[in-house]
Amino acid sequence: MKCFHHNSTEAVAVCMYCGRGLCPACIAFPTARRMVCSSACQTALERDERTLLLLLDKSVQNARASAFYFYLCGGLSAAAAVAAWFMLPSPFLIYFTAGCALVCFAAGFWYGRGARQSGT
Ligand SMILES: [Zn+2]
Ligand SMILES: [Zn+2]
Repeated sequence: MKCFHHNSTEAVAVCMYCGRGLCPACIAFPTARRMVCSSACQTALERDERTLLLLLDKSVQNARASAFYFYLCGGLSAAAAVAAWFMLPSPFLIYFTAGCALVCFAAGFWYGRGARQSGT
């Protein structure tokens, strides 16, 4: 690949944002973590990264909300299992609601752990 600016010079890097070939003279910020062709691409790249971080942050919040709902659901199922135990002596209903409670608690635990891990 040739440099996008100097047609006779071989590119040594590629702009992380627009993908153009860069020769050593055209790398806008040689000391930066990422190779970019211009400050415009640098800004755009940083903006994209911020958007990504924001999305990650949102997904952590979603995981927390999911954990909360699963715990809630598990609590309700557990209450239903206890109610079934006393009011409706039907083994199927008791096992079913107790199973639901277990699954919901497990899911809530899983989501809660995920939220903690990516939240730090
Ligand atoms: Zn670029
Ligand atoms: Zn060049």
